[in-house]
Amino acid sequence: MRAATERRQLLKAVYDEARECTGCPLHRTRTTVVFGAGNANADLMFVGEAPGANEDRMGLPFVGQAGKLLDKLLGEIGMARGDVWICNVLKCRPPDNRDPHPNEIEACQEYLYKQVELIEPTVICTLGNFSTKLLRGDTTGISRLHGHDEERIVGPRAVRLYPLYHPAAALYTPSMLETLRSDFQRISALLAAGAPEQPVMLEPVPEIEEAVQDGEYPNLDVADSARTELEPAAQLGLF
Ligand code: URA
Repeated sequence: MRAATERRQLLKAVYDEARECTGCPLHRTRTTVVFGAGNANADLMFVGEAPGANEDRMGLPFVGQAGKLLDKLLGEIGMARGDVWICNVLKCRPPDNRDPHPNEIEACQEYLYKQVELIEPTVICTLGNFSTKLLRGDTTGISRLHGHDEERIVGPRAVRLYPLYHPAAALYTPSMLETLRSDFQRISALLAAGAPEQPVMLEPVPEIEEAVQDGEYPNLDVADSARTELEPAAQLGLF
């Protein structure tokens, strides 16, 4: 378990990397990189789809109507933004709020896995189809999966994955809102159950380390970037 300060610094280093990212065409049209916000020590993480216009302008996730609903639902289970980490599959806004493209998800996913690695959540709630499909690694849709938790490996970590309807979809469909509200009621029990047993971390294998250095594996090289000077993490909204 990392100390809170180290966790925050490493997260800030990944954020600095994301802010410079040109890994997909969305960097040309974004205003800001919406990395994620909340509590870097949270046990509970929410993963939405992608920033919309408000998020792109403000640099924070879920600040529009869907975000207000998310705040309300959190309040109903006795929680607030300061208790959780909120982020998206994509860190940059797709033009006209179109669906994320596969190449964009592919280019961005390492940032999400790094967030999971550093924050070490117990429960990850995926909001809607895109995050659910990405983190489950299959195409089963949210209407079949919502409200059912399962143990899953996400990046390097075993978590309780708990798919939920996306709040933006629930805004306009009262029956979906009621389902989302009742699915939310199980979150406290899932948190109380604690994290699943973690996978055994093997000692680094020199051949693999070498291959990473030769660029044969994707690697964010957080350790190096963490050594760079850290600016105030204003936009991160870390607590
Ligand atoms: N919808 C999302 O999926 N993410 C946001 O940040 C806002 C709306």
